[in-house]
Amino acid sequence: MLRREHEPTLLVRANARCRSSKLAAAPRTHFHEYERARAADLAHDKVDFATTTREIARHEAQPLTLQIFQRALLERASDRFRHPVPQKVVCLRVAQCALRTAPALMTPLIELAHGQQFPAGALYIVATPIGNVADITVRALHVLGLVDRVAAEDTRNTSQLLSRYGISKPTIAVHEHNERSAAEHVIAHLRNGERIACVSDAGTPGISDPGARLVDAVREAGFPVIPLPGASALTTALSVAGAWVHTFSFIGFLATKTKQRDTQLHALLTHTPALVFYEAPHRIVETVQALERAFGGDRKLLIARELTKLHESVHQCTLAEGPTWLAADANRQRGEFVLVVEGAPQTEAAANAHDALLETLLEELSVSSAARLAATLTGASRNALYTRALAMDKARDSDKDTGEEVAQ
Ligand code: SAM
Repeated sequence: MLRREHEPTLLVRANARCRSSKLAAAPRTHFHEYERARAADLAHDKVDFATTTREIARHEAQPLTLQIFQRALLERASDRFRHPVPQKVVCLRVAQCALRTAPALMTPLIELAHGQQFPAGALYIVATPIGNVADITVRALHVLGLVDRVAAEDTRNTSQLLSRYGISKPTIAVHEHNERSAAEHVIAHLRNGERIACVSDAGTPGISDPGARLVDAVREAGFPVIPLPGASALTTALSVAGAWVHTFSFIGFLATKTKQRDTQLHALLTHTPALVFYEAPHRIVETVQALERAFGGDRKLLIARELTKLHESVHQCTLAEGPTWLAADANRQRGEFVLVVEGAPQTEAAANAHDALLETLLEELSVSSAARLAATLTGASRNALYTRALAMDKARDSDKDTGEEVAQ
């Protein structure tokens, strides 16, 4: 129990958004048993304000998602005190403010997440943030709170991430080198009727990350695999690329060996959809140079770096300008990268080759099937091929009509 001289001061009016506040003496009755014990624990000069507020939010018997949101508000309000702060400043009113604000904003979303069926004995593929931890969905939080265990690429990273949201779960390591054996482990738990979430270190599992083999194995074993969509560096970069990327192919990481990488790039030379690559900082300069050598300097290049993070930058230039831009500031070579490169131009030669292919395919197939198959074979835009195939089909019909008229 606190002695009278340690009676805490309350923040009686606080607005987490505009950060205004007013202090006053606190009647002790405002504290739950828990906060009282906490305040007594902290009978020193300093108190970690953020930790205290966290406990107050967690104390409320409310859905996890709502608690997380409230905690975020509290921590935001606590920023202004630059913790540790003098013991006397206790944040009960800030908590109350957040408790009032959060339900109005979050309740409809939380109800939607809670109202959905999340069957037992299923694997949930859950996307997590690629930088900013706030980029998690309400459904993802709900499922992470609900599952019996989490299959994670790096269990330590994932435990840390989950703890940011106040979640603690048993984990199973599922990484590049053990995906097959880990899948058996996961399937054994699914047989016991457990719900299992699969997460990677960042973004969407299975996109240049472990997860895809686990999905195959679980589906083959007859259990449902349920997607929880969210952040991915791929879609985040594409969302700011612009209209020149109307179709794209995701290549991910290029081979690390120079010869293999150059062979890969050579095979993509006439590929007309835009190309999306992932790259690490220690290879970014070399990769951009290799792209310029392979495709020439004229194509557009988007360099998306540290997306959603403090030093996020998105720069568009040509392949010829890329190496110079990177070299101009060492910071531009730091962090994580997505590169988007414009596809090969639709040359007359390519158009002629596509016409010849469509001509043959239209002998046997419908317009849409011919366009679909031609797109698969050439990598060209299916829509463009469909438009072309339709025109060719109409021309063939009118030739036929004319021929029939002449024959009559
Ligand atoms: N599964 C993840 C996804 O959905 O985007 C990708 C994982 S892959 C192992 C990691 C690579 O993704 C990084 O090397 C980088 O190329 C890209 N990446 C991840 N986060 C990024 C970010 N915040 N900004 C730019 N690129 C990022």
